[in-house]
Amino acid sequence: DTAPQTRSFEADVAKLLHLMVHSVYSDKDVFLRELISNAADACEKLRYEAINSPGLLGDDSQPRITVTLDPDTNTVTIEDNGIGMSDVELVDALGTIARSGTKALMEGIAAAKEAEGSQLIGQFGVGFYSAFMVADRVDVVTRRAGADIAAIWASDGLGTYTIRPVETVAAPARGTRVILHLKEEAAAYTQAPKTESTIKAQSGHVPVPIYIKDKPNAEPRQIADGAALWTKPKAEITTEDYTEFYRSAAGQFDEPALTLHYRAEGLHEYTVLAFVPETKPFDLFDPDRAGRMKLYVRRVFITDEAQILPRYLRFMRGLVDSSDLPLNVSREMIQESPVLATIQKGVTNRVLSELAKLSTSDAAAYLKVWDNFGAVIKEGLYEDFARREALLELARFKTTASGDAWRSLKDYTAGLKENQTAIYYATGQDLDRLASSPQLEGFRARGIEVLLLADQVDSFWVTSGVDYEGKPFKSVTQGLTDLGLIPLPDGEQPPAAASEAVAGFIAFVKSTLGDAVSDVRASERLTESAVCLVAPEHGMDRQLEKLLAGAGR
Ligand code: ADP
Ligand code: MG
Repeated sequence: DTAPQTRSFEADVAKLLHLMVHSVYSDKDVFLRELISNAADACEKLRYEAINSPGLLGDDSQPRITVTLDPDTNTVTIEDNGIGMSDVELVDALGTIARSGTKALMEGIAAAKEAEGSQLIGQFGVGFYSAFMVADRVDVVTRRAGADIAAIWASDGLGTYTIRPVETVAAPARGTRVILHLKEEAAAYTQAPKTESTIKAQSGHVPVPIYIKDKPNAEPRQIADGAALWTKPKAEITTEDYTEFYRSAAGQFDEPALTLHYRAEGLHEYTVLAFVPETKPFDLFDPDRAGRMKLYVRRVFITDEAQILPRYLRFMRGLVDSSDLPLNVSREMIQESPVLATIQKGVTNRVLSELAKLSTSDAAAYLKVWDNFGAVIKEGLYEDFARREALLELARFKTTASGDAWRSLKDYTAGLKENQTAIYYATGQDLDRLASSPQLEGFRARGIEVLLLADQVDSFWVTSGVDYEGKPFKSVTQGLTDLGLIPLPDGEQPPAAASEAVAGFIAFVKSTLGDAVSDVRASERLTESAVCLVAPEHGMDRQLEKLLAGAGR
């Protein structure tokens, strides 16, 4: 054997491990789910590579995960015959934080206090490193498919790890063996009933069969059959099954807010199993955040980068399994495939129609979804013109009339005032300030509802020429609106705008402010405040102006 090389973890990993080891988080069981999900991913990656390199499978073509318990040495070993890792991949995968969800988690932890940080671990997957919640040493013995060398990675989770080559006889013929040297207090995981029931509950539907060995020399028993959940008839699947699958396949810790499971049988056949999460991920507005829908072809995992859903549905999790795509095309070719285009279109439409259905069948559940993801969905209003109408129907707003509730555009247009020809909105950074803006006084006085738009994205879609049922969207800050045409409630008179005194005052203000303003006008929009700032009728909305100025444009 060559002397082991000792390396330090990337700074973020060291910090994460420290938190993990000192975590007060009580649900330690999740380490099993994380390690089994990695083992299943490794089998799926091999299945994909073997399409073009069948030799990688050798004489062992059945994917398999084996969990071996050993009370005598207080170890639990999770072994797969998947793709394995080269030594370079080992360093990349287990010495750094690669996945974007974990990166975002680290940012959350950096911002939170230490005690809160360990709570965050409980809410968000931390993948492989969760092993250190139960183990004080972890060995990873791995051999990449097709390689004639193997390596072992070992760490006590305290800041450094070692990597060294091992004799191939001491390694799996192919794949990865993760050996957890359990802490004293985690010894119960070496007991079959506990670990078996945990695996069944958490990972019973991973698409690779799982076996358990009660002792190192015991016969393996199958405890999960590896049948892909999405291929089963809906009637045989319970809500718990879906939740377990959602958690293990998507690495989520919450419940799905909405589950879609259906088979499309038209021009192309494919199965969809997709979820709207119940909670908002940390990285939803990270510019690098990509969609998380996986593409399978006849149960073989192909890629999670096919962008099955548009960016504005990037919060969705799940998969599409196509019967029609050829297995042996490259991922790049798949992007160009008309079959994928059909799938993208069909699944997107279905997600929107299911959301619309939910909005009527369970309004409270729908509003939770909107509260979490509405700011993302609204990006579709200017990115996806073809579905604009459907998206406008889905949109919910805070308005001058909404109170704590939400209003749809249908609600809004049902309350239009006499002669009102536009949907009025005010944009700004926070709802409270918006609601108390003097710009709204004239609208309030006339009982005209105003949408209060406080999401960053609002300034963009609202100025993109959109209308709803023929009514344009119009900013309250924009020039002379047609308020004069809309009557005040009985008996009230608009302030006389054109008197001589007012004209003299306007002349005075104009000469005082000079170039700082382009015009000064008497207005019918104010009822209490003396003045307010407005943008020119055909100019930019004031909030958009601010945003662009902030972006340095
Ligand atoms: P994620 O699974 O989200 O990528 P993890 O922390 O769970 O994050 O795993 C990190 C990486 O380590 C994986 O992406 C993979 O490259 C590698 N890895 C972990 N376990 C295995 C395994 N059993 N076989 C092959 N690679 C693995
Ligand atoms: Mg993982």
